[in-house]
Amino acid sequence: MLYLEDNYKKEFQTSIIKTIENKIFLKETFFYARSGGQPGDQGTITIENKKLNVIDTVKEEGLFAHIVDQEVNISEGTLISAKILWEKRHRHMRMHTTMHLLCSVLPFYVTGGQIGYEKSRIDFDLGENKYDVQILESQINKLIEEDHMVSYQWITKQELDANPSLVRTLSVQPPNVSGKIRLVKIGEIDLQPCGGTHVKTTKEIKKFKFIKFESKGKQNKRIHFKVED
Ligand SMILES: [Zn+2]
Repeated sequence: MLYLEDNYKKEFQTSIIKTIENKIFLKETFFYARSGGQPGDQGTITIENKKLNVIDTVKEEGLFAHIVDQEVNISEGTLISAKILWEKRHRHMRMHTTMHLLCSVLPFYVTGGQIGYEKSRIDFDLGENKYDVQILESQINKLIEEDHMVSYQWITKQELDANPSLVRTLSVQPPNVSGKIRLVKIGEIDLQPCGGTHVKTTKEIKKFKFIKFESKGKQNKRIHFKVED
C-alpha cells in the first residue's frame, strides 16, 4: 500500500510475488485498490518487454491483485515495471478531495459515496435541512480557491476511539497499518480518518460543479457533482 506514502508516484519497478489466472500480485505497489467508493487503479505492467493492461486493482487476502486483460503465468521474483493510468487516478484524487470539502460545508453524517471519472456522488444524512445549490457551489469553489493544504497524521486506534467525532465515514475505511490509522487534514477545514488518495492542495481540484440533489429515503440526500478544468 505504498500509495499511502506517495500518491503522486506514477511509475515504479518491483517484482512478482505470484500470478493467479489474470491476477498479478506484486512485492510492493503504488496502485490504489478499489475500496469504499473509490475505483481501483488502471495502468500497465511490463514484463520482459511485454506490456499488460491492468484493468482494475482489488484487495484480495490482504494483498493487492492487479487484474490484467489476459491469463498470465509468471514466476516469483520476475522483475517488472508498472505505470498507473494517471489521467484517471488524478481525476479520482480531485473528486475524492472534493468530498472532504463537502464534508466541511455540510456537517452531517455521510452514508455513502461513489467516485467516478465523469461524475461522483456522496450521500448525507441531511434530514430536514435545506441547502441552496448555488450557495453550496460557491462555498466549495471558494475553498478550492483558498488553496488549503492537504496533510497527514497517524494516530492509534485508542486515540481515534477517544475522539469519535472525527469519524465521518467518508465511505473509505481508513486502513489500519501496524495499529495506526491515518488522519487526513485539509487546512483547518476538515480532519478525518481516510485511506483514499488526495491532491496536495485544494487548488488542484480546479472547479467544482454541482449536478443535482437526489432524495434517497427520508433522511438521505444524494449530491451528484463533477470537477472541471
Ligand atoms: Zn480522503
